[in-house]
Amino acid sequence: MPPMTLTLGRVFGIAIRVNIGWALIALLIAWSLATGAFPTLYEGLPEQLYWWMAIAGVIGLAVSILLHELSHSLVGRLFGIEVETITLFMFGGAAQMTEEPTEPKAEMIMAAAGPAMSLVLAAAFEFASRATAGMSEPMSAVLGYLALLNLVLAIFNLIPAFPMDGGRVLRGAIWQVTGNLRKATGIASRAGSIFGWILSGLGLLLILAGAFVGGLWWILIGQFIRMAALGAFQQSEMKRIFEGRTLDELMTREVETVDAAITLEDFIRDHLFTSHHRLYPVMRDGRLAGTIGIDEIREKSQDTRRQLTVGEAMTPLAESPTLRAGCDAMEALQMMQKSERSRFLVVQDGALKGLITLKDLLDHLQVRSELAGD
Ligand SMILES: [Zn+2]
Repeated sequence: MPPMTLTLGRVFGIAIRVNIGWALIALLIAWSLATGAFPTLYEGLPEQLYWWMAIAGVIGLAVSILLHELSHSLVGRLFGIEVETITLFMFGGAAQMTEEPTEPKAEMIMAAAGPAMSLVLAAAFEFASRATAGMSEPMSAVLGYLALLNLVLAIFNLIPAFPMDGGRVLRGAIWQVTGNLRKATGIASRAGSIFGWILSGLGLLLILAGAFVGGLWWILIGQFIRMAALGAFQQSEMKRIFEGRTLDELMTREVETVDAAITLEDFIRDHLFTSHHRLYPVMRDGRLAGTIGIDEIREKSQDTRRQLTVGEAMTPLAESPTLRAGCDAMEALQMMQKSERSRFLVVQDGALKGLITLKDLLDHLQVRSELAGD
């Protein structure tokens, strides 16, 4: 789970999470509604009532975003794409898919399902707002606000900027026409990037025109979209290149090993100072026994380094960073990110097969990506 995220509960087996950033934005929206929008539009109501209206508005907004994301998720499920979690972020929500759509039609329909839900909600809230207009002004006002918000949500998400919904529809369409997912992702994310710059440019104009806070928001959202587009492209490239490729193909087979019987002093002089790796496999009687690196030595005094053997100071195999030879490259990369370690032994049935580093994976990614060209 990303930091500062809280699980609220489960709907249709999907975990619903909220990010602390969203909670802060929600507070900000409630405050601006209670002290700005509602008192200006509907004068003469008690101050406390404005706050209740604002709270109802923010809850309605959260439910609207949730329904938008659920709509993506449940339609995805029809196409066999499982969504495990929905996280409410700063600018809406994100459904975490375990896999990407495998056909363009699924991509297009799944992406369109969210904005479609927002449009339906906008119409429903507008209808409810008009129906309650004669009965209760505050209720009608909140419902009207939610109608407008859902309309904005639908339109904003339909902008053809990958990885936003409209960008996904665009990618699906290009994919359908060209039959080339890589090309489609490239074009759709470039559109996302360009759109991010346009928003930022408009923000700058707003600032020059004197609307500082509004302009800053546009720049922020623009840059957020630009980064998301870039990240989504890299992520999809990574998946394309790494999926189905095992460590067996990518690992280094010639690995420098260390004998468990030598002293730490010898290890430092003969291995650490000559090859400068962060982690070495330790062999005892021809069998893999554990790992040793700077971390195991750093705290030891000169005297201890002269007396202690590598076998005594090493991290035993069970606690060492290891991966299976049949492990997927994508899985290995996630493992490296999660554990914040960049060097893993590749092991099969307790025997050392090779070594894989983050640099190996990234180099491989770069070479293949450049070879594919565009
Ligand atoms: Zn969406």
